[in-house]
Amino acid sequence: MSAKATGPRDAAAVILLDRKDDPLVYWVRRHARMAFQGNFHAFPGGQRDASDAEIAVTGGTGDDVDAARVAAVRELFEETGVLVARGVEALGAARLATLRRQLNEGKLTFASLLANNSLKVDASLLGGAGRWVTPPFSPRRFDTCFFTAWLPEGQNVEQLNAELDHGEWLRPAEAVARWQSSQILVSPPILHAVRTLAGGLDDLAERFVSIPEARGGAVRRIEPRPGIVLFPLRTPTKPPATHTNCYVVGDREVVVIDPASPYDDEREALDSFIDELVHVEGRTVREIVASHLHPDHIGGIAYLSNRIGAPVAAHRITAESLEGKLHVDRFIEDDERITLPGEPEITLRALHTPGHARGHLCFFDERHGALLTADLIVGLGTVVIDPPEGNLRDYLSSLARVRALEPTVILGAHGPAVGDPIAKIDEYVAHRQQREEQIVGAIEAGDRTPEAIVARVYADVPEKLHVLAARSVIAHLEKLRDEGRLPDSMTVPA
Ligand SMILES: [Zn+2]
Repeated sequence: MSAKATGPRDAAAVILLDRKDDPLVYWVRRHARMAFQGNFHAFPGGQRDASDAEIAVTGGTGDDVDAARVAAVRELFEETGVLVARGVEALGAARLATLRRQLNEGKLTFASLLANNSLKVDASLLGGAGRWVTPPFSPRRFDTCFFTAWLPEGQNVEQLNAELDHGEWLRPAEAVARWQSSQILVSPPILHAVRTLAGGLDDLAERFVSIPEARGGAVRRIEPRPGIVLFPLRTPTKPPATHTNCYVVGDREVVVIDPASPYDDEREALDSFIDELVHVEGRTVREIVASHLHPDHIGGIAYLSNRIGAPVAAHRITAESLEGKLHVDRFIEDDERITLPGEPEITLRALHTPGHARGHLCFFDERHGALLTADLIVGLGTVVIDPPEGNLRDYLSSLARVRALEPTVILGAHGPAVGDPIAKIDEYVAHRQQREEQIVGAIEAGDRTPEAIVARVYADVPEKLHVLAARSVIAHLEKLRDEGRLPDSMTVPA
């Protein structure tokens, strides 16, 4: 894949407002099954079309932002039926609904819709609200221009399109409160926007772009839940992942989980974030936690521990495996509760969850069900079960254990937050079951070695991944052996 194919795509979104004396903002929830940010709350919007740049904008800037203005207006109309354009008041609601249907069915281009009805996209109807680039840890990335717009007189939000399952008007302060009480998931630009709106309408355009992230700068600090910061760090991890998520949890006292990067520039970025927490915000780092032994999780622990003098904690098995490589000051026991005082006070329950690694730990935030899954469940890529460190039966038990906690969000070590945890866990279990059935079928067909089974079962997987696939097959064979389901003639290689 070329760099261009994986780079951020141009997009636009509209922060729709109503009622100037006591403003309401409109947001939508993305459908749970959406690959990108399923179950997240967001503003209407989407990717730019090539044709957006061909539409003239009244009072426009004559640059790229005009194409973003057109995309914002078009996406808002497609998704909600609200059309923010000069001259729209001359069209009735019925006519508008017909035009929207024709546009969504591809029977009409947006350019001809505008031209045929004497409508104009007008820059003065759209307020600048910043530009955000999705950080590189996400499988899909967008370079999004945000605009504010007032709901035009006589219009309202109509039926939403299929990507969205819920939309509502609410006061910005209420939107912030929903996030504060962990009822919703939002990405950093949405959180910043509702916080900015909650501060009133004065100097709105300036306040929207008051932070570098809102001017297209790097987004490092992601807050999926209050008191939990996700800080993605570039690491030598397994593709398609390129980053490992470091989590900083707590308010007055924090724990830092998996500060994983061995790279100087990434360590510096994390250093300045932690220095800000300690020296500007007055927090203290209680300890640094290793979720498990793999290098893409522990690569920056000793460095950070030396720099700030914080002790290191891990499961006993992890500590034993890393002896001589990483000094562990304290063992974390299964079911231990780590209470972090502050506002909010957070209690993390440690869960020994072997399967991917023998000493693997997850952490469950008991307030509102956030589950930090490290490499048990990830938001990007797949989880490798490589015996003897990996064990499939343990892995499936660990999945069942965390499923029973009914988490509301999964925060894995790679990729974005997973907003539909139960569906994700069920998908993981179904995937392993399907592989097992294929492997049982291969054995019944006479295959007796992992290599032969891989050749049959992983025929669709590139050959360079077959060595890894063989490890996974061995994990399945161990499980079948332990369950007494292997033929006597068959032994499982180490
Ligand atoms: Zn791992």
